[in-house]
Amino acid sequence: MKITKTKRTIESVTKQVGVTGGIGSGKTTVCKIFESLGVPVYYADDRAKAIMVENKEVVEKITQLLGPKTYDPLLQLNRAFIARVVFNDPEKLQALNSIVHPAVFEDSENWFDSNSNHIYCLKEAALLIESGSHKFLDKIIVVTAPIELRIGRVCQRDQVARDAVLARMDKQMPESEKLKYADFVIKNDGTQSLINQVWEIHQKLIDCSSD
Ligand code: ATP
Repeated sequence: MKITKTKRTIESVTKQVGVTGGIGSGKTTVCKIFESLGVPVYYADDRAKAIMVENKEVVEKITQLLGPKTYDPLLQLNRAFIARVVFNDPEKLQALNSIVHPAVFEDSENWFDSNSNHIYCLKEAALLIESGSHKFLDKIIVVTAPIELRIGRVCQRDQVARDAVLARMDKQMPESEKLKYADFVIKNDGTQSLINQVWEIHQKLIDCSSD
């Protein structure tokens, strides 16, 4: 199922700004700084996990696709099972994404609507560009960091081995490719203040709110 935008036929004044970047680049860290400035943030990956258990239609479609083992008796997601099934089966992964991505997109549209009193709002997603939802956003921020730093940060945060991080990185669009879509770039390599970079972009987004 493709994502199609049906809402916002009348141009909203609230800018919809995407935040993306590779695993461990610091998307969430950056978004927390924006939040401290009062900017609402939609965390798409967290919402996707919730939608996969809360949205009845989505639950039914996923069960049809992957089988009854996908959910435990308490209707919680069997993540290990899903990972095993889709990790080496690109067609299944694509089919799963085509169920989840449009549902998340619709949910985020409703969320943006409920925050239309703000000058701009952020949508944070690891697969923002891969899912195609970037096409409906007004601006894109890409967070970057050197690969070794990202691996080290994720190993420490998730207590996982280097190979596990590399395997997850392998499934993502390379950073160099993501940068082609960027209106703003935040360098999270420890050499520049994140707060200053966020503040500068915040000012620009407020200034261009009437564009
Ligand atoms: P994922 O794609 O896995 O969701 P992410 O891009 O959202 O990751 P974060 O969770 O923000 O990345 O950061 C990864 C880890 O690195 C976290 O533990 C975070 O606290 C740490 N981190 C991020 N930026 C910095 C920094 N500038 N200095 C020190 N630690 C950092």
